[in-house]
Amino acid sequence: MCSIIGYRGKLDAAPLIVESLKRMEYRGYDSVGVATSNEGKILMRKGVGRVVEVNKLFNLGKLPGQIGIGHTRWATHGGVVNSNAHPHTACTNDIAVVHNGIIENYMELKEEITNLGHTFKSQTDSEVIAHLLEIYYLDSKDVKEAIIKTCKRLQGAYAFVAIFEDGVIGGARYDEPLIIGILDEGYFISSDVLGFLEHTDRAIFLDNQDIAIIDGGELQLFDFNGLPVKRPITQVAWELGAADKGKYAHYTLKEIHEQTSTIIQAGTQNIDRMQNFCDIILNAKSVYITGSGTSYNSALIAKQIFAKFAKIRVETILSSEFQYVHDLIDNNSVLIAISQSGESSDVLQSVKTAKQKGAKILSVVNIQTSSLARISDSSLGVNCGPEIGVAATKSFTGQVSLIYHIADNLCNNCIGFVHKNKELISAIEFVLDNEYKIAEIANNMKDVRDIYLLGRSVHYPLALEGALKLKELAYVHAEGIAAGELKHGPLALVDLNTVVIVINPSDATFNDTISNAHEIKSRGAKVIGISDSENHLYDQFIKIPKVSELLYPLVEVIPLQILAYFLALKKNADPDYPRNLAKSVTVK
Ligand code: GLU
Repeated sequence: MCSIIGYRGKLDAAPLIVESLKRMEYRGYDSVGVATSNEGKILMRKGVGRVVEVNKLFNLGKLPGQIGIGHTRWATHGGVVNSNAHPHTACTNDIAVVHNGIIENYMELKEEITNLGHTFKSQTDSEVIAHLLEIYYLDSKDVKEAIIKTCKRLQGAYAFVAIFEDGVIGGARYDEPLIIGILDEGYFISSDVLGFLEHTDRAIFLDNQDIAIIDGGELQLFDFNGLPVKRPITQVAWELGAADKGKYAHYTLKEIHEQTSTIIQAGTQNIDRMQNFCDIILNAKSVYITGSGTSYNSALIAKQIFAKFAKIRVETILSSEFQYVHDLIDNNSVLIAISQSGESSDVLQSVKTAKQKGAKILSVVNIQTSSLARISDSSLGVNCGPEIGVAATKSFTGQVSLIYHIADNLCNNCIGFVHKNKELISAIEFVLDNEYKIAEIANNMKDVRDIYLLGRSVHYPLALEGALKLKELAYVHAEGIAAGELKHGPLALVDLNTVVIVINPSDATFNDTISNAHEIKSRGAKVIGISDSENHLYDQFIKIPKVSELLYPLVEVIPLQILAYFLALKKNADPDYPRNLAKSVTVK
């Protein structure tokens, strides 16, 4: 959930680490801290707030030394207070550690360690790692042994990086990512390639249960049994420029605008790989799709598209529910996992369960170097570049676009999606050019308490996605409802103070959804219509161009994203970093 980073080399560590933390802050951003090792001593500064603020207050980047670690936190255990910010030290200040994840057995460990006479300074689960490392290190003065013994005691999911008094850096991963960046002037060890991409594109993606030790100019890798392992050096393709805001005020707005190209990029797939992916689907007796949040909304769209065009029945399962409902999955099944980061704990857990039951695993994932991509039998990249805004925008349309391509492949190009690129992009450009009109609508919605979004058929997942954006970015209660369900309950909630967004392009759902708009209107609620065709029932109208029917989901989501973005601004919320959220949710 957070970002961790370590550096050892010829350059000053602290300023590099602060810059890295700024780039990775989207992963978690409630506290920040840096520790360096200088002349045999560990120095540490940390505090609550964003990297820029804490750095200003405590000059994190001024810590001396060419060896260091850093952290941005997304609290899971222990409040957001200075003492819980990472790094954590143990009793003798000879070790400092940063941790990403959750130590599930930390209560037992804490009790055991306290009985040995150790004192804890924080309420975090992470501090047990510092104490365990200290206990085992003092025993043997051997970093590798200390890390192995510590890992053997930890339950949960973690990646950690520690510096020891003599300047050795050691890290380990168990179900959380950890990546080495190789420079001429040393090594980074980081949660995310964005932590070092400014300096190098040469990376080693550690396998699960790998340990890395950087001692002097040497990098050594081991497994949890202490045996040396070799991992390949990968060249990371992303340009760092893609992770800049460019001319936009926020990453979220930039990423909304990028969709005119990222939707197309999603279709750039290796032909053999796509064929292999589709063959696995065609050979399966049952097909399941899993995902969380926005990716689950993509799964719902996939379900409809696969049925309609490829005539393939698909069952969708929320990743967080998967462990309770996997009874029918077996070695004739295929599970397609959809994820932006490929590191979400719920998704990875679902995949592991399905794999154990003999199912084949396919993934649709933006980060092709992620754990999900690596454990899949076949994986297709969404190819939308780094998505920094915490709320998914371009990764959603990338996923949906890729789903259309897959469906096309499964039905001998019965959709002809690739031939509709031009039509699609010019429709999205139209919506983006009229962004200011949506901003005006958002400006009048600041005090709205409840928003309902209605859609039928494939527009229902879009209603869910629109509601999710409004919740995440603008902190407003928003609910996506299958329009036909309105009369079965939700209509009781509709009154003069409600806003209802009706997603209603002119396709087979139009007339029925218009009837719903009537029902709402007669209860006094304000109706916002998103459609290619205006109607007197709409108090406000967001026009989208008329396009081929199957393109509507990819077009109508854009005004929903824009509305949520501008409503966030109006409410003084930071759209890039919504409260309580983090980008890749690596906890259960
Ligand atoms: N569980 C740890 C904490 O609450 C680490 C959370 C994180 O990954 O940021 O401090």
